[in-house]
Amino acid sequence: MNSKAFQLTAAVAALLAAGSVNAEANKVFSYTVQAHNAPMTVDVIMKDGKIANILTDSRESSGVGKFAIADLSKKMIRNQTVNVDNITGASVTSMALKYAVKKNLEQAGADLSKFQSKIAKAPLNDSYKSEVVIVGGGGAGLAAAASVIEAGGTAVIVEKLGYLGGSTAVSGGGYNAVDPERQNRQGVTDSIEKHYQDTMRGGHNKNNPELAKRLVEEAPGTMHWLEGKGLGFGPKVHTIVGGLYQRGHAAQGGGFGYVNALSRFIKAYPDKVKVFTDTQAVSLIKDEQGRVIGVEGKNDGKTVKFFASKGVIIATGGFGSNVDFRQAKNTGVWKEVKLDKDIPCTNNFKASQGDGLKLAEQVGANIIDLDDIQLHPGGTPKTGIMSSWPSGRNRIFLTPQGDRFVNEDAARDTLCKAIFKEGGKYWIVSNHVKYPSLDYQSKNLTIGEMIKLGQAFSGNTVEELASKTGMDPKKLKAAIQSYNDAVTGKVKEDSFGFKKSTKDDQPMTEGPYYATPMVPAVHHTMGGIQINTNAQVLDKNGKVIPGLFAAGEVTGGVHGSNRVGGNGIADAMVYGRISGQSALK
Ligand SMILES: Cc1cc2nc3c(=O)[nH]c(=O)nc-3n(C[C@H](O)[C@H](O)[C@H](O)COP(=O)(O)OP(=O)(O)OC[C@H]3O[C@@H](n4cnc5c(N)ncnc54)[C@H](O)[C@@H]3O)c2cc1C
Repeated sequence: MNSKAFQLTAAVAALLAAGSVNAEANKVFSYTVQAHNAPMTVDVIMKDGKIANILTDSRESSGVGKFAIADLSKKMIRNQTVNVDNITGASVTSMALKYAVKKNLEQAGADLSKFQSKIAKAPLNDSYKSEVVIVGGGGAGLAAAASVIEAGGTAVIVEKLGYLGGSTAVSGGGYNAVDPERQNRQGVTDSIEKHYQDTMRGGHNKNNPELAKRLVEEAPGTMHWLEGKGLGFGPKVHTIVGGLYQRGHAAQGGGFGYVNALSRFIKAYPDKVKVFTDTQAVSLIKDEQGRVIGVEGKNDGKTVKFFASKGVIIATGGFGSNVDFRQAKNTGVWKEVKLDKDIPCTNNFKASQGDGLKLAEQVGANIIDLDDIQLHPGGTPKTGIMSSWPSGRNRIFLTPQGDRFVNEDAARDTLCKAIFKEGGKYWIVSNHVKYPSLDYQSKNLTIGEMIKLGQAFSGNTVEELASKTGMDPKKLKAAIQSYNDAVTGKVKEDSFGFKKSTKDDQPMTEGPYYATPMVPAVHHTMGGIQINTNAQVLDKNGKVIPGLFAAGEVTGGVHGSNRVGGNGIADAMVYGRISGQSALK
């Protein structure tokens, strides 16, 4: 690994300070272990037979694996134990960290039996009361909680994982909004009406027009609201893959940036919002009049009731990772493709299981369009995670043989259908314009690390790249030339319909060239709980279910049968915020 960006976990200052003048010097032990995204080096600093600090050099995801490392390291140091529970939803990283710490203790000659004490947990009450109960602490749930605080209310967040963030934390965080300030500077003409038309066109006009309209109308204001919570956005807009237009905003810190900014805001109001992690909502509680008044949850086997005097918001995300359920519902756009375990998923696996649909169904909610499942072309083979996805411009999609086969700017369903037609696997080829150096970081990994892990290949010449990837060098050359012809203006548009659309579209004329193997992966589920524009849940007769609200990927109707890239985060933020306001009305 190049830049040794050590993540400093909590240092035990007291422990160090307490050492006597004659105390033993620090001894550093090191062990490298395979973690979730890449190998991770864990250094344990021992002093006087105790764990004085744990330092890791990891490529784990912010808010997920990195959260587990920080949280568990703190617990291990504070309690001088390796007997800590895995973080739910980050168990691979948790186990890797614990294993590496144990190996370091062994190297240090420590008696492992002395590092086994169990940490006592504070018991939960049988019930809690607040005005609003939010089920799910991902993007939509956090936006809902922040808007409850602003409206002067109180809320409880019930989150089944060991941390907040859900799939939002691992997302790219691209956000579509009309934004004259940035767009005018780039000569991009846009309007709310145009964003609406693109959203409907992308969704094949299956969207609920009112929901789509409110999304695009509120997206700019909600972006400024997020900026007010400390979330920065890049100075330029771009077209997110399948985003259909240049109105995508890059959030600082990607998807984790939203989680970080909103959870920091919420943490500042501990008397307003309480968070219960490791607590899975299993049913809704209704009163005799049929109003939803609470949620029953399970925490470590214990049943806990969360009562809400004003409303319950379901914000549990999608069901992309639930392989059996998604295949059972797969009668729509992907019916010819088996969405079984051979098709990976980009989502946070434990989060997106479709729990919220079951909760809502129990109280008679109308569940719509579950067959509208979105695949994304950016899956890393086998894992599905988007760690090696070269998002942005200056890359072409090629068949295993090296032919271009699709307009890279097409909607996601068109892209994935074309990939399946070519056998389900393809290459993305780029060059130094995209990756100026081997240290260039794309998501969690640098291109150099991707090459080491076999997630990318490089060649100084087209021929070298072809020989490493099995592509036909003549085809590869011709493919690059056809792209270059479009971006240099030699042709107005190539035979697939691709044309230069931004000043960033640059020709690929010299090496090093890079090729990344990619597969389509299940990415988003457009169907879900039917809501109105106030995020109130509707029953099968179109009537509001009193006390029940829903927001984010768990809802249906906003995106039609194909979500436009960059509208997912906007949906979670816009309707999350609306749901909090509506619940308190
Ligand atoms: C890799 C990736 C990249 C993406 N990139 C983009 C992008 O750049 N732009 C864009 O617009 N969209 C993107 N998306 C889509 C977007 O991230 C999601 O649509 C959005 O984040 C969903 O937010 P949410 O709050 O509805 O769900 P989530 O963020 O998944 O949150 C749901 C939460 O509910 C919890 N939960 C579930 N069931 C229960 C239960 N029974 N009890 C308690 N808690 C429960 C989950 O653990 C989770 O924390 C991406 C998605 C992925 C996976």
